[in-house]
Amino acid sequence: MAQRSRLTGLVPEPIDLPAELADLRKEVREFISQELDAGSWTPRIDAWHTAWDGEFSKRLGQRGWLGMTVPVELGGHGLSALARYVVTEELLAAGAPVAAHWISDRQVAPSLVRFGTDHQQQVFLPLLVAGEIFFGIGMSEPDAGSDLASIRTRATATEGGWIISGTKVWTTGAHLAGAMIVLARTSARDESNRHAGMSQFIVDTSAPGVTISPIRLLSGEHHFNEVVFDNVFVPDDMVLGEIGNGWHQVTSELAFERSGPERFLSTFPLYSELLTSGSDEPFEPGQLREVGALFAQLWTLRQMSLGVAGALDSGAAPNVAAAIVKDIGTRFEGEVIEAAQRVIDKEPNRQGDPYERQLAEAVLHAPGFTLRGGTNEILRGIIAKEVGLR
Ligand SMILES: Cc1cc2nc3c(=O)[nH]c(=O)nc-3n(C[C@H](O)[C@H](O)[C@H](O)COP(=O)(O)OP(=O)(O)OC[C@H]3O[C@@H](n4cnc5c(N)ncnc54)[C@H](O)[C@@H]3O)c2cc1C
Repeated sequence: MAQRSRLTGLVPEPIDLPAELADLRKEVREFISQELDAGSWTPRIDAWHTAWDGEFSKRLGQRGWLGMTVPVELGGHGLSALARYVVTEELLAAGAPVAAHWISDRQVAPSLVRFGTDHQQQVFLPLLVAGEIFFGIGMSEPDAGSDLASIRTRATATEGGWIISGTKVWTTGAHLAGAMIVLARTSARDESNRHAGMSQFIVDTSAPGVTISPIRLLSGEHHFNEVVFDNVFVPDDMVLGEIGNGWHQVTSELAFERSGPERFLSTFPLYSELLTSGSDEPFEPGQLREVGALFAQLWTLRQMSLGVAGALDSGAAPNVAAAIVKDIGTRFEGEVIEAAQRVIDKEPNRQGDPYERQLAEAVLHAPGFTLRGGTNEILRGIIAKEVGLR
């Protein structure tokens, strides 16, 4: 019974979207349809990670669809996480090129609102809301991924600021971003408190001593990077939050990072293509069962993810619920690919018809789904701990 009671309330209640958001959804759909009619982009698999288009992000900024939850007095739109949800799920479902602003809008904006100084908020938030600056996140290192507390990148105090040295890997979009939020050690590792002594810095990617090199995907595409910091000077006013508080700051934005619709919609354009034009023949009962089962999973995940967005609106930090959404959601993204291959007898082909192209992209991108943002094994460890199984 004790364990059951720990499960109660772990996942926030499903919620109904407020009726007034229907107009917003309509507006976003009309915008997407105009963009597609104008041929501005082609729907992409995994678009939030790979389809970088700074001009598209600016157009979203002009519509008021970036920094939606940033308070008005800080240059944002002061809207709810649910309003942001409506915009992001429509863009993801359409495979729109949202990668440029994704990390900035999802997690850098809330971090700046929560931990940024007045100066940092004034400098960065209006640019971020306009889609005129994009950030990367430098946490993982060659020997520190799941075990992030093992990072070795070091920041040493100097006159007027800090000197950073070390290497980050898998840094999405660093080669295109104007700045990175870098997690570094500011005091020696203490085995009795492994999470102490880390701090976050806002680093200009064009600063002397920063070298960014591609790490290519299976597909040959360049989306993430190795970033080497060789005695990079960062002024005091670019320390994000408090020195020594880096671990707390990083973990406090995990619910934003792990619970959103991008954690189950990366392969939605393939699912959509499967339903609409993947096959010329009507589906047979067995095929209908497959696509119907996927829809049931999709809808359940959406309800869970909306529940987390609602909890974020009420000021909670539902990290465990977010871990559950990400674990189940990223597995679902892979299941869409497997089901698609069973339902329609076509081969992945990057030069083929839209369905074959989506399938090829999905197969090539799938290995990253359950790794990025904390692997599924790590997430299950977090969940098990919370429910008292570890
Ligand atoms: C597409 C993509 C984009 C990314 N973008 C960024 C980015 O922008 N910025 C950034 O900082 N990082 C980024 N990452 C890195 C990502 O956060 C790490 O890959 C992830 O945290 C895992 O770390 P690792 O690769 O070092 O694997 P490891 O930690 O070495 O893990 C290897 C395997 O061992 C398992 N494992 C490890 N420890 C345990 C344990 N305690 N219990 C059970 N199993 C365990 C893992 O689940 C995994 O299967 C990105 C990764 C990908 C794939």
